[in-house]
Amino acid sequence: LSAGLFIVGIGPGGHAETSFHADQVLRRADRIVGYQGYIDQVRTWLPDARFIPSPIGAELERASNAIDLALRGEQVALIGSGDAGVYGLAGLVLELLQERDADELPVEVVPGITAATAAAALLGAPLGHDFAVISLSDILTPWSVIRRRLEAAARADFVTVLYNPASQRRRRQLELARGIFLRFRASETPVGQVDSAYREGQRVSLSTLGSFEPLGAGMLSTLVIGNSSTRRWGDRLITPRGYRATELSRSADSRAAPEISPPR
Ligand code: SAH
Repeated sequence: LSAGLFIVGIGPGGHAETSFHADQVLRRADRIVGYQGYIDQVRTWLPDARFIPSPIGAELERASNAIDLALRGEQVALIGSGDAGVYGLAGLVLELLQERDADELPVEVVPGITAATAAAALLGAPLGHDFAVISLSDILTPWSVIRRRLEAAARADFVTVLYNPASQRRRRQLELARGIFLRFRASETPVGQVDSAYREGQRVSLSTLGSFEPLGAGMLSTLVIGNSSTRRWGDRLITPRGYRATELSRSADSRAAPEISPPR
């Protein structure tokens, strides 16, 4: 391998949740470009790598910087947390390359464990059936769009994973999301919240749609709202797939969500 750009998801936290492939790419890279916080994580297991840190929010600059270095002949790894293509920089990098017609540059996206599956593992098995992933951040997406998607997911009885539920400045979105879900789902519907999955300070909390505390969520929280058959077993959540015959008939009987006609 010579020059090229690798867009690498490093997983939710520690080295153990980083894929072998990602690890190998990071070890071979001439430069590792990323947000300072993610670089600090990688540095714990790759102390001698050459890092180029950038502040949070400087996404465009970070992506362009990585592209320029790679075009100059270096092997560059641009890192992101979780999966770098899930609310991450992979799309932006490809957009920039498309604008520049830079199809001679070898680019590879290396997948990572995303917050949804990391949180789900800590919660048990809440994603055993169809699920939707929605970011509550209205910084780049108008709230009207987010609201429409929340309504659609709630109406269609998807288990729903919420990314970016809140930050210092964004405090009201989660309460609004709860309100939307309560129109379609019982207030006893299980809700799991995972903070700092696979990092220092990891916290797993279980509650219900009616009772969870929206102000308890922050930048590093991921929430999972169960569907109408998600249930709790001790401190685990289970969304049955229907492997068990009894489950199949039970979920057919108690189909809580309104019927949706198939697309024509
Ligand atoms: N590319 C990342 C997501 C970036 S969006 C991924 O695939 O995971 C940032 C959001 O991801 C956070 O607001 C939070 O909702 C979620 N998140 C990222 N890392 C997390 C972690 N370690 N624990 C819990 N949630 C996390």
